[in-house]
Amino acid sequence: MQDRGTLFVVSAPSGTGKTTLVKELVPRITSLALSRSYTSRPPRPNERDGVDYDFVTLGRFEAMRDAGEFLEWANVFGHLYGTSALDTKRQLDAGRDLMLVINVQGARQVQRLDAGAIGIFVLPPSPEVLQCRLRQRSGTHLTEDELQRRLTVARQEVECLKDYDYVVVNDEFEVCIDHLRCIILAERQSQRVVGASVQAIARSFGEKG
Ligand code: 5GP
Repeated sequence: MQDRGTLFVVSAPSGTGKTTLVKELVPRITSLALSRSYTSRPPRPNERDGVDYDFVTLGRFEAMRDAGEFLEWANVFGHLYGTSALDTKRQLDAGRDLMLVINVQGARQVQRLDAGAIGIFVLPPSPEVLQCRLRQRSGTHLTEDELQRRLTVARQEVECLKDYDYVVVNDEFEVCIDHLRCIILAERQSQRVVGASVQAIARSFGEKG
């Protein structure tokens, strides 16, 4: 029987650069997929439906939520976001590891449901750097009020980092990618994951030739 995949749950304050990080990281690791969320938020100019998110109306999102179709969901800055329970199960059952990039409320829900899920918190190097990154981005879609709101929420989210198994600081991009890669590769070798197949090898050493 194929081993079940592992869920990697990545959270970071808005502006930390987590989307860029995981989009670069995931193709570098075999058998790791990136989960695509549903959202009621409208697409930004550079985003495509079915690629960055599955963009749905608020009504459709609420109907899916009420039908229990989400593994987890959250209201983030006034828009709803959720992870499909069925897509997640399919990936894991196929033995693929799956990375969810979701906020801290969503991560909490996932860790309650799946004790084997691995939480990774990506921390910006400092509040000043975060503010600077948000300001650079705000040129495209954030008002000053929204920016201040994100900084306030970032402070609350950083308080949750103790609930995660790993923390990486996104200072130097390639170093951060390396750390994330190491975490995933190391977790794949944990006894919890390789237990069954390793025991089979260990048993074969006991077989008489
Ligand atoms: P953005 O709108 O900037 O793409 O994402 C805003 C926030 O929503 C980010 O913190 C992102 O991690 C979070 N997010 C994206 N998808 C999901 C999801 O499916 N569930 C939850 N709980 N948060 C999500």
